[in-house]
Amino acid sequence: MRESVPSPATAAQLAAAAARRSKPHTCKDCGAHPETPCIQASDGRHLCAACAYIHRLRTRQQEAAAASRQAAEQAARLLADEHLLVLAVDYTPGEPTASGNPRPPAAARITAIDRDGTPVCDRTLRLTGPRTPGAPAHATDPAETTADPHRPAHRPHRPGLDRE
Ligand SMILES: [Zn+2]
Repeated sequence: MRESVPSPATAAQLAAAAARRSKPHTCKDCGAHPETPCIQASDGRHLCAACAYIHRLRTRQQEAAAASRQAAEQAARLLADEHLLVLAVDYTPGEPTASGNPRPPAAARITAIDRDGTPVCDRTLRLTGPRTPGAPAHATDPAETTADPHRPAHRPHRPGLDRE
């Protein structure tokens, strides 16, 4: 009398294999019968690997198109505002400490243009104390209230927007 030889697989492996067998193996999109179980897509359909990949790409395309439309609408709203100012801040990195650790930025060049592209402000502000190295020589203290030499003379003062 012969006895059956037990499988070397663990109970967990047998359960996983049974679960794989119960998953669908027919793609709901192209009808393929892949060896591995189909992947459940975001819309709930079970798809083969290729169709699931295509589905993810199409979903990302739709999300990117929606984001692009929102960005265009936001840009149109911003450009319609007569008080629009576009700021650019370029930081001058601080010199590292003697031990090589980085310091915070030493200065910031702040450039502002209005919606027509006319420069409104171009200043370099010192962000550290006067004895801390790294800031350009022309950097000014942010607390100083001197007039901006780069401001065009014909532009009127705009309270709340100009810093003087
Ligand atoms: Zn498919």
